[in-house]
Amino acid sequence: MASNGEPQQDCLFCKIVAGEVPATLVRETETTVAFRDINPQAPTHVLVIPKAHYPDAASLAAAAPQLMADVVREAGEVAALEKITPAEGGGPHTGYRVVFNTGSGAGQTVFHTHAHVLGGRGLEWPPG
Ligand code: C5P
Repeated sequence: MASNGEPQQDCLFCKIVAGEVPATLVRETETTVAFRDINPQAPTHVLVIPKAHYPDAASLAAAAPQLMADVVREAGEVAALEKITPAEGGGPHTGYRVVFNTGSGAGQTVFHTHAHVLGGRGLEWPPG
């Protein structure tokens, strides 16, 4: 889907970026916002979004690869803040998952790119 990064009127996450919809912020940079998912699926469940509007990970990576890199780097910063990065020796609840649901068939419900950062419990593979 073509996108130029401009805010979209009916986009929930653009409204979070604009401060028009409340969210529990974890981190913010010049280009990204990280906030807690309202329906957490793990002890840590944080969404990292670019402030600019791109509908999914593929369109973001194609149009603005540096911004995609910012999102992925921020996922790592969130994991460090939440103390879920892989520990020396590997504890049971370290390590985390970064997920970009892409398309409704894969569970995407909000069409503004977001990385789910999930951790703090054992995560199974394959996912459902
Ligand atoms: O990957 P998907 O598009 O389904 O993810 C959207 C996520 O946004 C959901 O996990 C949902 O709980 C979350 N959400 C949120 N705050 C809102 C609306 C949705 O954290 N106000």
